[in-house]
Amino acid sequence: MTISIPRLIPGLLCWSLLLLTGCPQSPVESPQRTGSYRIVTTTGMVTDLVRQVAGSHAEVIGLMGEGIDPHLYRPTPHDSGQIMGADVVFYSGLKLEGQMEAALELAGKQGRPIAAVTEKLPEESIRHPEGTVGHPDPHVWHDPNLWGQCAVHVAEVLAAYDPPHAEDYRKNALDYQAQLKELDEFARKVLQEIPAGQRHLVTAHDAFEYFARTYGLSVHSVQGITTESEPGLQDTNKLVDFLVENQIPALFVESTVNPAHLRAVIEGAASRGWKVSVGGTLYSDAMGAPGTYEGTYIGMIDHNVATIARELGSQWDGAMSFKESREAK
Ligand SMILES: [Zn+2]
Repeated sequence: MTISIPRLIPGLLCWSLLLLTGCPQSPVESPQRTGSYRIVTTTGMVTDLVRQVAGSHAEVIGLMGEGIDPHLYRPTPHDSGQIMGADVVFYSGLKLEGQMEAALELAGKQGRPIAAVTEKLPEESIRHPEGTVGHPDPHVWHDPNLWGQCAVHVAEVLAAYDPPHAEDYRKNALDYQAQLKELDEFARKVLQEIPAGQRHLVTAHDAFEYFARTYGLSVHSVQGITTESEPGLQDTNKLVDFLVENQIPALFVESTVNPAHLRAVIEGAASRGWKVSVGGTLYSDAMGAPGTYEGTYIGMIDHNVATIARELGSQWDGAMSFKESREAK
């Protein structure tokens, strides 16, 4: 039997490491640790938020990637292992991660810090839509100021877990909160220039009520605040009526929701002689591709603001994105 050199070398390395430190676990199985402890997070927005606050003190592992619908996402055995092996766990909360509750609860029972980033938001800031008893609207990240408050809570959880770096966490959270305030001010400026008759945001599911509340728009969608149930014919017909009666020119698809539901709406309107176009894709419940601007929380909101402003006819001069306006400074 022959052993090839490339196979032999990692083995030798492991043995030499064993002599020095005790053999570590396979480097393929456990990603490189960059901080002194490990945090596991759920959605991309939570992952980005926690990374901003944790800085270099912890490794942050996000479970849900691009295009994942958190309402429907079921943890894989690998995810459950990651959660159980984490030092700290953050999730979005307000019943967003409906299928992950059991795994999160189990982790909580094991005594590790586990927190919903939204849990300290003032009760009056949370939406409780009619007819959804016990199911608050979880999409708070669409209000950058509320999301900034979540950063402050993350800092307090990390400060309690790792007191020597408490001041770093608090400073990181305040810095990030200031950036989100700037983002909010920019969005306000751009979106207030959408003419009064066009301030209707038509989407696949009801994810943008916090956004609409903040920026003075109204939202109409096929599905409710969760995607867990399929839309009925009645919901579709109601939306078609609204589009036709108000002559709404565009609706928006979402990166995490099946566009078929909106296609039925477009066809329904067409059969009544009203042409509705697709105004682009919005990031509702997940961010864009990792490594891109839209793959960050700020980039996601900036993209949504620019897309909505453009399609609904904002008269804001320059129509520069937040990124461009920051770069121009
Ligand atoms: Zn949603």
